[in-house]
Amino acid sequence: LPAEEVPDDALKEEYGRLVEEVRRHRFAYYNENAPLVSDAEFDELFRRLEQIEAEHPELISNDSPTQEVGGDVSAAFTPVQHLQRMYSLEDVFSREELDAWVRRAEASIESQRPGSSVTWLTELKIDGLAVNLLYRNGELVRAATRGDGSTGEDITHNVLTISSIPRTLKGSSHPTEVEIRGEVFFPSKEFARLNESMVEAGKAPFANPRNAAAGSLRQKDPALTAKRPLDMYVHGIGAREGLDAESQSETYKLLEQWGLPVSPYFKVLASYGEVVQFIEHYGEHRHDLLHEIDGIVIKVDSFALQRALGHTSRVPRWSVAYKYPPEEVNTKLLDIRVNV
Ligand code: NAD
Repeated sequence: LPAEEVPDDALKEEYGRLVEEVRRHRFAYYNENAPLVSDAEFDELFRRLEQIEAEHPELISNDSPTQEVGGDVSAAFTPVQHLQRMYSLEDVFSREELDAWVRRAEASIESQRPGSSVTWLTELKIDGLAVNLLYRNGELVRAATRGDGSTGEDITHNVLTISSIPRTLKGSSHPTEVEIRGEVFFPSKEFARLNESMVEAGKAPFANPRNAAAGSLRQKDPALTAKRPLDMYVHGIGAREGLDAESQSETYKLLEQWGLPVSPYFKVLASYGEVVQFIEHYGEHRHDLLHEIDGIVIKVDSFALQRALGHTSRVPRWSVAYKYPPEEVNTKLLDIRVNV
């Protein structure tokens, strides 16, 4: 039945059930690195929740999963307060939804800054674990998971085992303080080997490389993390002091100069047509990459326009994730996990 025709009590009951279900799946995914359903199934539940809330805003509470960045802080780690909040991303699942998102962003920019032209920055949406690196005067002083967006888990010792992450930034001029955000991932070609060794050791294999990355990084013993071939790409900054950049792409140039791993695949594009071509290109080549991707991230490049668009409590309004259609492989791997 379309939502408007469902009696109120039934809808409220469905809503309550969905909230609980989404919470349960988030816990299994973020805290235990062991999802109970595929990402596509989870996304469907989340979408239904958003749909009910769009039609019945009176149901939305501050602790609805749609108002929060998913993920908690496990008691196994020391909690860390991020200096600036970390966000999730709004998802779109079709060209029509992306067209509508771009039209909305452009209209909002036009109303606030008439005559601005928007430059887009497109990137691969790396299927890994979000990590926040804090550098003070060029030295890595702390690394944390995203957690609930405000508080993450201290994983500094584990992150120090990843060779592509510098302890000291290159060059002589660094910001006094900067939070650098990125994705730690498990390289695709190493994933099958890891799972074989897990099975040989009598352990359940990981459902996908994303869970392998999270499981490897969120270890109590850094020596275990050090045995895993983890890698990272950085894709944003949080709090900053003494950093002079006007755009996301200018920032990437600085990050690269400092020796941080910036993905070689991002593009700065002047037209929406080129954004669509970028999406189509990687839709065809998503398995030719070092890491798994589950979509493309599209960002407004200019920091001034990013500030004009702002954030919700969960996502920035200046960025969107275009999600590729789900693939069979996820479900098959989940089957393996269940069978072992
Ligand atoms: P998300 O993973 O969809 O998107 C937000 C994150 O994308 C950011 O935090 C960032 O770390 C990351 N990201 C990757 N590449 C990026 C780039 N180039 N630029 C910017 N950010 C980039 O959001 P989420 O809120 O963490 O989780 C939702 C995802 O997790 C969905 O894909 C969902 O299916 C999955 N999930 C699955 C289950 C399950 O049970 N299977 C449960 C919870 C979440």
